[in-house]
Amino acid sequence: TIQRTYNFNAGPSALPLAVLEKAQQELVDFRETGMSVMELSHRSPAYEAVHNEAIKRLKDLFAIPENYEVLFLQGGASLQFSMIPMNFLQPGQKAGYVMTGSWSEKAITEAKLFGEPYEVASTKEAKYCRIPELNELQYNDSDAYIHVTSNNTIYGTQWQEFPDTADIPLIADMSSDIMSKSVDVSKFAMIYAGAQKNLGPSGVTLVIIRKDLLEKANGKLPTMLKYGTQVKSNSLYNTPPTFGIYMLGEVLRWIEETGGLEAVAQRNEEKAKLIYDAIDNSNGFYVGHAEHASRSLMNITFNLPSEDLEKKFLSEAKEAGFVGLNGHRSVGGCRASTYNAVPYEACKALSEFMIEFQRENG
Ligand code: PMP
Repeated sequence: TIQRTYNFNAGPSALPLAVLEKAQQELVDFRETGMSVMELSHRSPAYEAVHNEAIKRLKDLFAIPENYEVLFLQGGASLQFSMIPMNFLQPGQKAGYVMTGSWSEKAITEAKLFGEPYEVASTKEAKYCRIPELNELQYNDSDAYIHVTSNNTIYGTQWQEFPDTADIPLIADMSSDIMSKSVDVSKFAMIYAGAQKNLGPSGVTLVIIRKDLLEKANGKLPTMLKYGTQVKSNSLYNTPPTFGIYMLGEVLRWIEETGGLEAVAQRNEEKAKLIYDAIDNSNGFYVGHAEHASRSLMNITFNLPSEDLEKKFLSEAKEAGFVGLNGHRSVGGCRASTYNAVPYEACKALSEFMIEFQRENG
């Protein structure tokens, strides 16, 4: 049998074993085409079926209303940081950014090139250990949009409830918690996410966008930087990342076959609890970075009593077969990313390892 490591990478990250095995099995002869998905023309009926199945699965699973478009773009979530203000922010116009971590900072930096973004709220002073309360969010009716980062991959915080911004378009970077639970899509004018955490391999960026927002878009942009271009051509204006889209479709099929989003959400809660319990029952040996009410079920961030102990923890964890537990290079500490495809057993093994490490070093 194959030995799979306990993969806690932050992204790219673990994919479901069943999906990898299926991809392997149909790699050299995809649906009797005599070639792999990667070798199909993106204009062929065989590929178009893959493409449209993936879109349909997304719409069904995530309950995306009729008045939204689903796009597969390239350039990562990072290009969305630029495309959003390019398309929707005019010079002199304001847009509100809720600052909850490094990715919000990167997003607002791009918006400054095109208009006048401002910080609706920021928890930077508190080292981004929490998501602001909804009543801390002060914005203006004239804002072009409000931008939030639903899950903060580096700091390990996650929005539990989103603001109702009424007529102001709400835009969310859901890169690190998309499809980890169901979300009321109708609250958002746009949702975007790099695929490489919960959806598949890197190289595909998912964009879910409400049609009326598209109508407000700035038309004077390079063809590839206009959302309208890919809307008009069903994300087939140019060659899409075909293999990544195929994998994304298979990951969605796996979600369906394992009980849908509700089951996924429940598994994620159980998995995260194993690790948070190890932190909370450690009498302060492990200190979680996030405030309890803002804790992420996707990225669990914690510190040990000293940097030396952290080093020891990380090196012994590595020897024991745990991969990816280092905190982001910008903040240090430890981080366990427990995305959809990380098995319960891996989280159980990690929590046992943490308890044992504390017994020996506490
Ligand atoms: N936003 C969030 C919340 C992320 O976690 C990341 C990547 N880790 C990004 C944006 C950037 O994504 P990409 O690498 O796809 O550009």
